[in-house]
Amino acid sequence: AVDIENLSVRFGAATVVRGVSFSVHPGECVGLVGESGSGKSTILRAIMGLEPVSDGRVVIHGMPPSPDRLTRAGAVQMVFQDPYASLHPRQTIGRILEEPLRIHGIGGREDKVRAALAAVGLPLAFRFRFPHQLSGGQRQRVAIARALILKPRVLLLDEPTSALDVSVQAEVLNLLRQLHAESGFSMLFVGHDLGVVAHMCNRVIVLENGLLKEELTQQALHAGQAGDPYTRKLLQAA
Ligand code: ATP
Ligand code: MG
Repeated sequence: AVDIENLSVRFGAATVVRGVSFSVHPGECVGLVGESGSGKSTILRAIMGLEPVSDGRVVIHGMPPSPDRLTRAGAVQMVFQDPYASLHPRQTIGRILEEPLRIHGIGGREDKVRAALAAVGLPLAFRFRFPHQLSGGQRQRVAIARALILKPRVLLLDEPTSALDVSVQAEVLNLLRQLHAESGFSMLFVGHDLGVVAHMCNRVIVLENGLLKEELTQQALHAGQAGDPYTRKLLQAA
């Protein structure tokens, strides 16, 4: 589980996340939506320990945030918007998938790489390819496999399908739903499209300008019960 308590993140004079609190419970999928610049990626990066927290705190599995990146990486992993940018261009897929295991000194790497490729529906032979030899959707599958190879209990997804072709988006979303259902990790899913997010997640958090505006259940969203005018605007745009 992740508990975000009164989190604020400042860059110079600008406070881009302002006293946000929410939790992601074990096994749950929570959506995070808001307009561009509302602070979604900053919150994910703060959970990963990639952004300094100006105020409040991020508690992972009841432990105070570990200053040790490595410990945190075993518990929380993130998939970024652009899979091309996030995969090392000169490493083979096999090497890319092995890297987190290597860093954590985990053995049985070959078997784990095999299993990881199978889990995301990629052929074993892809371990000899380089990222540029894959399609966008295949690259994002590799990024998901890499994020899950350490079996983190929380997976953070930052618009994981927005760089992909529309036809491939549904495939990757379905894969994520399937992995989530099978493996029981929790997900914090950032997306622009409220429809997609509500489809993936049982709860949706709405951010505006770094502030938490509203928290809605999937049912309330489907029933069009968004109370906040900003949320309704997002719903209409979707
Ligand atoms: P998008 O939907 O476009 O990805 P977002 O909700 O993810 O937007 P963030 O990337 O979290 O938005 O950015 C929130 C605000 O923080 C923006 O105004 C951005 O310019 C600012 N910001 C983000 N990172 C930094 C940084 N390292 N230094 C200064 N400002 C930053
Ligand atoms: Mg973003």
